[in-house]
Amino acid sequence: MRAMTVAGAGQPLRAAELPQPQPGPREVLVQVLACGVCRTDLHIIDGELPPRQSGMVPGHEVVGRVVAAGPGATRFALGTRIGIPWLGGSCGHCAYCGAQQENLCDAPVFTGYDRPGGFAEYTVADERYCFALPERYDDAHAAPLLCAGLIGYRAYRLSGVRGPMRLGLYGFGAAAHIIAQLAVAQGQQVYAFVRRGDARGERFARQLGAVWAGPSDTRPPAELDAALIFAPVGALVPPALRATRKGGVVVCAGIHMSDIPSFPYALLWGERTLRSVANLTRADGEAFFEAIARHPVDTHVQTWPLAQANEAIAALRAGRVDGAAVLLP
Ligand SMILES: [Zn+2]
Ligand SMILES: [Zn+2]
Repeated sequence: MRAMTVAGAGQPLRAAELPQPQPGPREVLVQVLACGVCRTDLHIIDGELPPRQSGMVPGHEVVGRVVAAGPGATRFALGTRIGIPWLGGSCGHCAYCGAQQENLCDAPVFTGYDRPGGFAEYTVADERYCFALPERYDDAHAAPLLCAGLIGYRAYRLSGVRGPMRLGLYGFGAAAHIIAQLAVAQGQQVYAFVRRGDARGERFARQLGAVWAGPSDTRPPAELDAALIFAPVGALVPPALRATRKGGVVVCAGIHMSDIPSFPYALLWGERTLRSVANLTRADGEAFFEAIARHPVDTHVQTWPLAQANEAIAALRAGRVDGAAVLLP
């Protein structure tokens, strides 16, 4: 089968011909229909996350069809369209797994990092960590739900959202464009922060219902109740704290971030909370799919053929993608 593989830190992905994987116990063989490109894939490709195996197939926003089942895999009928997310497995017996915090598992298995992902024609996945997908989304439009959507949703929930509130989104990419729509539908006021000079990003955010959009180094017209930082830029933490009210929460939602510069304690004072969000639990996924069943969101995608994965990655790096980048095998 054709696949795109990690070639080494900072190198473009390399096209490869790999043997079709075989599903093991509780695994399904999935024919990939679409796979989103996530910021985390860039961190893996660039070596900003510790490299696992060389020649790894990245991609953890996989939409595919079940074409074979391994021993004991009975959850999905052959032909079912499913989604494979970043959390591909957890140990089930560490303290975190025992406390409904499998996102923090001591021995996790991540899709497209510890095990092959979706930048390929086929992949295998542990069926227990996959999701059934709503039919209203076609393959390409469903892909970004699987990481941008559901890890974005975890960040949104952990911002302490209750009642109508003013929510800041820093970095208006794949995750923010989904969470903005959901938040607006749930009665929140969304303030979108983009790179200075990114008029297109500001326009895109307003189209999706943001009440205000502007450069990330400016103060919004009103104090925020919470801010989610989706951009992997530590320098955004002090301005986000500055824009957030006493008792408010600032959530760093990415897996990797550049260093956070030092800042005066006064920015944190007033019982502001600064926290990160790591990975996802299966319960987050179920809750997210329930939420978008009640408040459907329109994902915006730009697609590339699998063989042009490096072009998709370049467009994502340059901020040239409105919404999410998706590869089609
Ligand atoms: Zn565990
Ligand atoms: Zn991701």
